[in-house]
Amino acid sequence: MLDLIMLETHDSELRALLATEDGSEASAYVLLSAADIATDPWTGAARRRLVTRAVLPVPEEDRVSASPVHVTWSTRGFVRLLKRAERDDLIPAIVHTHPGSTAFFSDQDDRNERDLLRIVANRAGQGREFASIVLGGDGSAVCRIWQLPDEARECERVLVTGRHLAVHAGKTAAGVPDSLDRQARLFGPSFNPAIRALRVGIVGCGGTGSPTAMLLARLGIGHVLLVDDDVVEVSNLNRVHGARRSDAEAAVPKVDVLAREIEAAGLGVEVACFQGWVGDPRARDAMRSCDVIFGCTDDHDGRLFLNRFAYFYGIPVIDMGLRVLPATEGRPYEMGARVTVLAPGTTCLLCRGLIDPRIAAEEALRRTDPAEYDRRKAEAYVSGGGDPAPAVVTFTTETACMAVNEFLQAVTGFRGPGGMKEERRRRFETCEDRANTARPRPECEMCAGPGVWGFADVHPFLHRFG
Ligand SMILES: [Zn+2]
Ligand SMILES: [Zn+2]
Repeated sequence: MLDLIMLETHDSELRALLATEDGSEASAYVLLSAADIATDPWTGAARRRLVTRAVLPVPEEDRVSASPVHVTWSTRGFVRLLKRAERDDLIPAIVHTHPGSTAFFSDQDDRNERDLLRIVANRAGQGREFASIVLGGDGSAVCRIWQLPDEARECERVLVTGRHLAVHAGKTAAGVPDSLDRQARLFGPSFNPAIRALRVGIVGCGGTGSPTAMLLARLGIGHVLLVDDDVVEVSNLNRVHGARRSDAEAAVPKVDVLAREIEAAGLGVEVACFQGWVGDPRARDAMRSCDVIFGCTDDHDGRLFLNRFAYFYGIPVIDMGLRVLPATEGRPYEMGARVTVLAPGTTCLLCRGLIDPRIAAEEALRRTDPAEYDRRKAEAYVSGGGDPAPAVVTFTTETACMAVNEFLQAVTGFRGPGGMKEERRRRFETCEDRANTARPRPECEMCAGPGVWGFADVHPFLHRFG
C-alpha cells in the first residue's frame, strides 16, 4: 500500500497559497519524506508512506499561464526542485489545484507529468522519482508517484492530519457494516466510511486504554492496534474493560484480553497487538502504520517517545491523563482529567510540563537494567514505587470518552470548525471543563517551529533511538 500524510499545516499553507480570485488553477512545489514499513501489522505486507515536509511556492517569473482548467509553469523551477530534493534526500512533488471539481488526475495531467518524468530520466543524479498532488475545490486530494521508466502509482489514501482528521480514500474505500446505521443518522452518510478507513493505535490498555479500545471498536474503526506490556492483575479488575478474574489468575496480557473482546463482538474490526513497550524497535512498523494514536499510558518514558513520534511522522497523538486524590482533613477531593493533542502546530507535553524527565529516565532504567534499578532503589537514589495511585472505573472511562469525543470532533467538526482543542481539562469534583493553552518553549525541537515536522524516517530513529 502507498499513502500520503499531508500535515494540516501544509494543507492550509497550500490552499492559501493556491487560492485564486478568478477560479484559475494554480501550482506549487512540495518536498516529501517517506516511511518505509516492512510489515503492516494488519496485512503483513510491506507499505510505503509519504509525508509532506515543506511547501515551496512557484516563483512569479516561472508562471506561464492559468485558467480554470489549466495551469502552466516553466520547468526551470522543476529542475531546481529536483536538485534541492536530491541534496536533502527528499522526494520532489508538484501540486496543482482543480478549483471547480473534486481532485482527480486529468488526461492533461498525464501528458504533463510524462514530460516531467522525461526531465527526471535525462538527469544523471540519483533522483529517480517525483510525486504529483492534486487538490480539489471541495477539499479533496489525490497523490501519485512517478517512477522511471514509466510508472505512475496512485496513493490509495491521502490523510490530512492535525487538529482535523480527513481521509480521502479512493477506490479502496472500505465496506461499512449495517451495525453502524444509527451513528450515520447523527453524523451523515460520509461518517461511517471515514471512520472505517482509519487505522488507530492505542498505547496502554489499562484503565483509560481499555474503554478507548472498546469505544473505537463500537464506532466501527476498521483497524485497531493495541500496545501494552502488562498482564492483567487482580487489582486491574475494577477498571479494565473486558478483563475477567480468570485472566488475572492466568496472567493474560492486556492486549490479548482486549483483542479477544473486540473479536468476540463481531464488528468486523481488524485487531493487531504488540505486547511490549511502545518504544521497542519491533513496534516501529506497527506504530508507523497508524493514522492516529491514543496515548493511554501513565508511563513518562512512553509519553516521551510519543511526544517525538507525533511531530516526526505527522501522526497525531491524543494523549490522556487522570489524577484523582482522596479528600483529607482540610482538603477536598482533587479529581482531574486531561486530553492533550500532539500534532505539528500544537504545544508538546514537555512544554506543558506533563512529562517528568527524571521519572522517564528511571522508567527507562527499570526497563533496560532492572538489577541496577533495584540497587538504586534500595539506596533511595530513584523515587519509583510507593503506593499505587487511586483509580475508579467511572473516571478512567469518562477520560476515555473525553478523548474519543475529541477524535470525533477532529473527524466531524460537531463542536465547530476549529478541530480538536489542544488541551481539555475536566474537574470531576466540581463538574468544570476548560480548554487549556500553553506556549512552546522557544528552544523546543518538537513544537516551537516546523523543525522536525514530517521528517518521517531518519537515522537514528526520531533522532534519538538507534
Ligand atoms: Zn490537473
Ligand atoms: Zn515543546
